[in-house]
Amino acid sequence: MCVAKKILFVVLDGAADRPTVAATTPLKAATTPFFDRLAQDGILGIMDVIAPGTPPGSDTAHLSLLGYPVNKVYTGRGPFEAAGVGIKVRPGDIAFRGNFATVKDGIVVDRRAGRIDDTKSLSDAIREQLDLDCEFLFKESAGHRAVLVLRGEGLSPKITQTDPKHVGPFLYSKPIAKDASARRTAKIVNDFTRQVSLILGNHPVNVERSRSNLLPANAVLLRGVGSVPHLVPFEKRTGLKAAVIAATALVIGIGKLTGMTYVPTKGATGHIDSNIDEKVKNVNEALKRHTFVLLNIKGADEAGHDGDFNAKTHFLERVDRALSNLEIDDETLVVITADHTTPISLKEHSGDPVPFLIRGKGVRADQTSVFNEYIAATGGMDRIYGRDIMPVLTDLLGKGVKFGA
Ligand code: ZN
Ligand code: ZN
Repeated sequence: MCVAKKILFVVLDGAADRPTVAATTPLKAATTPFFDRLAQDGILGIMDVIAPGTPPGSDTAHLSLLGYPVNKVYTGRGPFEAAGVGIKVRPGDIAFRGNFATVKDGIVVDRRAGRIDDTKSLSDAIREQLDLDCEFLFKESAGHRAVLVLRGEGLSPKITQTDPKHVGPFLYSKPIAKDASARRTAKIVNDFTRQVSLILGNHPVNVERSRSNLLPANAVLLRGVGSVPHLVPFEKRTGLKAAVIAATALVIGIGKLTGMTYVPTKGATGHIDSNIDEKVKNVNEALKRHTFVLLNIKGADEAGHDGDFNAKTHFLERVDRALSNLEIDDETLVVITADHTTPISLKEHSGDPVPFLIRGKGVRADQTSVFNEYIAATGGMDRIYGRDIMPVLTDLLGKGVKFGA
């Protein structure tokens, strides 16, 4: 066969950066012999994952990289988080991300309830006692996090969230559309809030926390509301049998909602201490049974949000060493990229383009021999949109759709 057969798509979450005062970026400063070897054999470019100057969220970025029209399918982050923590969401469900929080006299005093890390029995109490005017699913997630899904007719995501995003007065949900379903959904959300504060207020876990001078988790704040979209399965769109290997619920959820097989990884935390070697082992296994593997590695984004240049640089070096154990031949197209830029200087996502490289059979290797934001901007792929990378890759696999006669 004269074309590659498989794709390994590696997303170094938030790895791209802006120059520091020393005119360098973590990716430029890091010693990354494996990435550089791929760059030598491959072709580089930069990519506007959504659009020039639009800072992507990790959710919209991944959807765009996978070729989905984000403007049409994306209504909020909640549905992907819910799918990621294992709820079998259905198109039309209304899903929220939630935070266990501490509320005192109507004021949110801590959005994370003192970073509570075990909310199982609190969540059990909510599941047992909550009585809403529609079907619902509630599930605890990592740390202080949780998800809520509302199901049934006459519900709408056109409502405001109850999470004020900072310390301050608690918010009640309001409809932002003039229809009955938005009014009803806001009412259900406010009912959720009221009942949860009663259920959790005197819960033994909180009584014990207060006695130990810990903040009680006596509220659940909701945000990221969205209606679960109908996504055409990735395999149907591309003809590729896909697996996702990731630590964060969001990316796992995107994989699940697009019909990918989720391969869990022991010790994958989504933080800079994550077990990347174990992820690499899983990738090597997954490539035997799949023609597309999406690998997300989260740590660089976290270091970016923390504004920690050294942590980000060292993490990227560790990733480079771990990925050098990938078992990939020329038949596998390898893509290395980021879903967005998370500059140390901003501690937030920015709209700068991200670097990417493609290596494998059929790729017209360019003159580049190093992988970073600067060199990528001189590469043979020039500058493309995130939504264009899947068509480029499937064309390299000989699956391009001819336009015209
Ligand atoms: Zn991200
Ligand atoms: Zn981020």
